[in-house]
Amino acid sequence: MKKYPGNVFMIIAPSGAGKSSLVNALLKEDTGIELSVSCTTRPPRPGEENGREYHFISVEEFQALKKNDDLLEWAEVHGNFYGTPKTLIKKAIADGKDILLEIDWQGARQVRQQFSDVTDIFILPPSIEELRVRLTRRGQDEPDVIARRLLAAGSEIAHAPECEYVIINNDFEVALHELKQIIATARLRYTAQAARHEKLFADLGISKASSQ
Ligand code: GDP
Ligand code: ADP
Ligand code: 5GP
Repeated sequence: MKKYPGNVFMIIAPSGAGKSSLVNALLKEDTGIELSVSCTTRPPRPGEENGREYHFISVEEFQALKKNDDLLEWAEVHGNFYGTPKTLIKKAIADGKDILLEIDWQGARQVRQQFSDVTDIFILPPSIEELRVRLTRRGQDEPDVIARRLLAAGSEIAHAPECEYVIINNDFEVALHELKQIIATARLRYTAQAARHEKLFADLGISKASSQ
């Protein structure tokens, strides 16, 4: 698998753990990361905009994307389909930009099979009770949807050991700082640096064989 000059980051968490809040805060400060906007068949929440949080599409449109092999990965989560369109990923890769995916554990497995050196980060809530409080306080889902997401939280959390990094989102600013640290560290890995600075490494006489 050839390493391209960008990094792939995946954020995985149960609903309400704070991944979107953390990612949005991160993207305000870090312009080197391209957020992958997923396609979903779930209805938009109040305030969500088509093309910003998600591309909101019908089940038929989703099936067509699958059939045409336009999705990098896809999964059924909480009774809806979610998938990562290939177009943005291909463009970001061509531009050498870093990519961030907010996806579930099933999608994360599919991405790990396709990219080397993926950096995966699991976001844990400080407790299940706090998760319930946050989902309720967010006030964007119907009570039955919140109940279903809370029920699903345990099975999502069960996949935390598949990730290299874990952040416990108790104090938001601390969690954001930790997220930035992980990203900074991942960018400094040998393979990432060698891919990004291919010419410098060659000029310095570092052989390609030793960087792969
Ligand atoms: P949230 O978890 O409260 O932000 O609710 P969402 O409806 O935004 O996301 C529901 C689940 O779908 C989460 O586990 C997401 O990580 C996951 N998800 C979102 N987009 C994708 C995607 O493109 N692919 C996959 N596999 N999962 C996704
Ligand atoms: P997710 O994208 O994982 O579903 P959100 O980012 O939407 O989660 O966060 C869920 C709710 O919890 C939001 O209302 C958000 O403002 C709140 N929240 C996120 N992080 C924290 C935190 N550290 N402390 C308190 N509330 C938080
Ligand atoms: P929500 O509907 O609350 O926005 O998201 C619910 C779950 O779907 C979250 O856990 C989120 O990570 C997951 N999800 C969102 N987009 C994708 C995606 O493109 N692929 C996969 N596999 N999961 C996604």
